Amino acid sequence: MNIVTLKPSKEKSLLRRHPWVYANAIERVEGKPAPGATVIVRAHDGRFLARAAYSPHSQIRARVWSFDENEPIDHAFFKRRVQRAVAHRQAMVNGTGAVRLIFGEADGLPGVIVDYYKEDVAGENARGQLVCQFMAAGVEAWKEAIVAALTAATGCPNVYERSDVSIREKEGLEQITGLLAGDEPPETIVANENGVRYHVDVRNGHKTGFYVDQRDNRALVQTFAQDREVLNCFCYTGGFSLAAMKGGAKRVVSIDSSGDALATAQKNVQANGFDADRATWLDADAFKTLRRLHEEGERFDLVVLDPPKFAASREHVDRAARAYKDINLTGFKLLRPGGLLFTYSCSGAIDAELFQKIVAGAAADAKVDARILKRLGAGVDHPLLAAFPEGEYLKGLLLQVL
Ligand code: SAH
Repeated sequence: MNIVTLKPSKEKSLLRRHPWVYANAIERVEGKPAPGATVIVRAHDGRFLARAAYSPHSQIRARVWSFDENEPIDHAFFKRRVQRAVAHRQAMVNGTGAVRLIFGEADGLPGVIVDYYKEDVAGENARGQLVCQFMAAGVEAWKEAIVAALTAATGCPNVYERSDVSIREKEGLEQITGLLAGDEPPETIVANENGVRYHVDVRNGHKTGFYVDQRDNRALVQTFAQDREVLNCFCYTGGFSLAAMKGGAKRVVSIDSSGDALATAQKNVQANGFDADRATWLDADAFKTLRRLHEEGERFDLVVLDPPKFAASREHVDRAARAYKDINLTGFKLLRPGGLLFTYSCSGAIDAELFQKIVAGAAADAKVDARILKRLGAGVDHPLLAAFPEGEYLKGLLLQVL
């Protein structure tokens, strides 16, 4: 039996149903749990706290599967958890071709995310594609069970793995990609989101191929875009740009430093039958280009700033804060009076309060009065476990300059 016993009073977070056990909370480990093996976590006085997956190489030494003493961790457990996650999305997220089916801790499956894409063709034969990312020893050990449960719960036979993320190193795991079940994915899948068609390259695209988490925010941009001149900075494959075009934007300028992403963005313009003349794609560094556009006197009615994660961890918060401030400062300066700024951070290490302070500082330095119209985040397919505020990574603000 593998038993992890905590130091005195270190049981508090688990009693509040926080799902992580840090290495420094552990007094002793009995047995020889292999990476990903199930351990019983006990309080210092011997009380049962949880069953968890052991990660010998990580500072997050164990991740909780279940707080229920009577729940064994077996194939049936993963079947139940996956089925529950899929049922929640079927009930809550409809009519979209790109959805997050499993979101780690919030679905009781810490360390794994799964996205589902559906080809936008009429009829019953639309191809489905599941894309998984395994980021911890526990889900790695149960990969086969999770994949079997996924195909059973969704009826989709095609599963591709995109575990090419550096955080796997902290778990002692190599990066890996490839087919897990069914057929090889096609070069791109065309998925429909909010009435817009997007090419998704699950093999070579970022993350699982598409930034599924921004769906509601792209819909919001669509509703505000009519007759506006739009700047979309860090556009990737044109998510917000296409949404703005669908919403009737007069002109959309988009910036990204990835030529491949921009090539896909232009394919997306075609796939939707939009007038290519309304769109300008700049393959360039966003920081420099924002400044250049401002110096050249360009002005916009709607600006989107959706940069990559600037703060990979807490040590990088200060540098990241300066980078966020820089782009938001120029973003504000590029707006006409009454213009809208959609601004985001996907750095977990920068919380919503700090992000708002950074943006407020940028507005002050730009000498504009900005008001927050709405706080923004990921869609309902990316739930936040109440006991696990660390799960909130994407935060955004919709602001208007007066
Ligand atoms: N908003 C997009 C997702 C943005 S992801 C969507 O809805 O799909 C962040 C993007 O920033 C990536 O495409 C990456 O290529 C780009 N990027 C990273 N650093 C950059 C830089 N310095 N200048 C321009 N683009 C950059």
